[in-house]
Formats: sequence, C-alpha cells, structure tokens
Amino acid sequence: MDCIFCRIVAGDAPADIVYEDDIAVAFRDIKPAAPTHILVIPREHIAGPLDLDDENAPIAGHVLAVAAQVAHQEGLADDGYRLVTNQGRNGGQSVFHLHVHLLGGRRMTWPPG
Ligand code: AMP
Repeated sequence: MDCIFCRIVAGDAPADIVYEDDIAVAFRDIKPAAPTHILVIPREHIAGPLDLDDENAPIAGHVLAVAAQVAHQEGLADDGYRLVTNQGRNGGQSVFHLHVHLLGGRRMTWPPG
C-alpha cells in the first residue's frame, strides 16, 4: 500500500509540519483552500471516518484535540475556523488516510460546495 500520508508520517515524503506527537501529525496542505489550511492526521493508517470504531475512536478524539491546539498556535481561536473530514467519492475524499482539514483566516460559507 502506497499512502502519501503514511510516507509523511515516516519522514519519507516532505511536509511542512507544524505539530507532532506520538499519535498525530499536523502539516500544511500543499494546495491551500484558505489562508491557513492544515491537515491533522493520526500516525496510524486509518482509511477514513468510515473506518472509525470504538477501538480507534480515542485516536480520532486526539486528532480533534490536536486541531484545537494547532488552531490556538496559528492564531485562529478568536475568529474561529472550520474542521472538515471527507469520506468517499461523494464526500470528495482524495487521500485515503484519515485527516481533518483545519481551515481558517477567512469567513467560510455554508452550505459547503
Ligand atoms: P481530501 O480531498 O479531503 O482527501 O484531502 C486531501 C488533502 O491532502 C488535499 O487538500 C490535498 O491538497 C492534500 N495533500 C495531498 N498530498 C499532500 C502532500 N503531499 N502534502 C500536503 N498536503 C497534501
């Protein structure tokens, strides 16, 4: 299995990493959709939100907590930001390793496209 996010976790592919710990890594998206666009991923390969269960749910919870920490770090806490996780074709998922998009620095619209 060739997963670009696993390669980033392993240090085998370049990334602009802004935070990392034993469970999660956060790095800047190569194609930013907002002034601040960071991806927070678990080190463990989980294909997407559909693969979450009671056993790995703590990892997903930690990923969300890291997103909050990085939001503070990036100065997004006061004005707010958006978290997005896409699943499958209709969700628009293109990388099949669980990730949360942390988007900030501009006013988001709703509903999403
Ligand atoms: P999604 O379409 O929700 O699966 O999001 C995947 C995101 O990963 C997209 O926003 C891509 O721009 C981003 N992406 C893909 N490859 C890389 C990479 N090597 N480094 C940083 N971001 C990436």
